[in-house]
Amino acid sequence: MRICVCPGSFDPITNGHLDIIRRAASLFDKVIVAVLRNSAKSPSFTEAQRVDMILTACAEAGLTVEVDVFEGLLVEYARKVGACAIVRGLRAVSDFEYEMQMASLNNLLCSDVQTVFFMTSAQYAYISSSMVREIGRLGGDISALVPPSIQEQVLCTLTSKP
Ligand code: ADP
Repeated sequence: MRICVCPGSFDPITNGHLDIIRRAASLFDKVIVAVLRNSAKSPSFTEAQRVDMILTACAEAGLTVEVDVFEGLLVEYARKVGACAIVRGLRAVSDFEYEMQMASLNNLLCSDVQTVFFMTSAQYAYISSSMVREIGRLGGDISALVPPSIQEQVLCTLTSKP
């Protein structure tokens, strides 16, 4: 059983994330989408909202995944759940430096968990959670950016914040 972890903030999940999760599901027997609990960041969506939106979006896309929340070292979490790989997405060159550093350090900490990268699909290359938050807050159309089933929840939460 080959298990992978797709870690991230998912604040909120976007079509770009969903594409990576779909592609991971085509290579691995089980995909665990793991939401990072990071007390240093103050996310726009609560942990429960982010988990709920991932479940809704994946179900809508016909993807069977597990969704979990983790804190602490990612490699420890991966080991705990029996994952052989961490899946990350790469968009622009700007993602590369950080991802390379993380993958190298994670490899140093735990050499039996591999980091696997998927290049973003061209149509999602420009999508990020931060752009979704920015456009949504300003009342823009986010229908090309996030899965249909969560659009309303995303807009409601973003526009209800001061
Ligand atoms: P983090 O704060 O850990 O980067 P994110 O939720 O922003 O969490 O991203 C999680 C993963 O999804 C990262 O590997 C990121 O590169 C990838 N990702 C996000 N958006 C896209 C996209 N549009 N195309 C490909 N990968 C993406």
